[in-house]
Amino acid sequence: MQTALITGGSRGIGAAIVRALAAKGWQVAFCYKTSQDEARQLAQETGAIAIRCDVTDSAQVREMVKTAIRQLSHIDLLVNNAGVAWQGLLTDMTDQQWHTVLDTSLTAAFLTCREVLPGMVSRKSGRIINISSIWGRVGASCEAAYSAAKAGLIGLTKALAKEVGPSGITVNCLCPGVIRTDMLACYTESDLAALADETPLCRLGTPEDVANAVCWLADEKAAFITGQVIGVDGGFGQ
Ligand code: NDP
Repeated sequence: MQTALITGGSRGIGAAIVRALAAKGWQVAFCYKTSQDEARQLAQETGAIAIRCDVTDSAQVREMVKTAIRQLSHIDLLVNNAGVAWQGLLTDMTDQQWHTVLDTSLTAAFLTCREVLPGMVSRKSGRIINISSIWGRVGASCEAAYSAAKAGLIGLTKALAKEVGPSGITVNCLCPGVIRTDMLACYTESDLAALADETPLCRLGTPEDVANAVCWLADEKAAFITGQVIGVDGGFGQ
């Protein structure tokens, strides 16, 4: 039985990844920070294990990984999905807002990888998938911290793929485009229609589009793919 740990699995893209892997017979653990009801419901629906953990806190991440390993025996796949956005002028951003965005989207991936990798290295196998963003590739106005964090995740992916490749571990990065989740709550329906119009495939993405790409990268047949940055954006980021 293959096993996976997904960060930020309670809602949106993370929840779709939990559902998709569980439907393929994976044993899944996922974490959440505040959405306890959603997490409980998803655990009930899929049989996945829900663990409360703030991924910006290294002690909580250590405990989360210990709990996941206790329940699953080991972790074959780690998906670093948790993230938060912040929109506004860089000059209006406080230190705390900057750190929250960077800590959730970038530092958390370092913390989880540090805890999960020793087990993967000793088994000489494992998969890590980082959820970045098109904004990490091309930058977005009024999303400087988010773009910086997501670009950092791309750098982390490429470096770590080289570091752990000899141990049989692949590290890849997905860059979703505009995906319909709570993260888009700040946009009006007409903003969203305009974004869909700008997308070559003429629609916004769904959480399932990203989950399908995760399943593909997690599959045995993707064993020779590592260090890659793959858009799931309907052509929007090109
Ligand atoms: P949502 O806001 O819908 O969900 C975010 C998830 O992250 C929730 O499960 C939330 O848990 C969790 N989370 C946030 N902060 C923490 C934390 N400190 N510790 C643990 N969990 C946390 O976002 P999406 O599903 O849209 O985004 C998922 C990922 O995809 C993010 O990394 C995002 O940057 C990326 N992405 C999204 C795009 C989009 O258009 N939606 C586009 C490109 C990339 P809880 O509810 O419990 O707090």
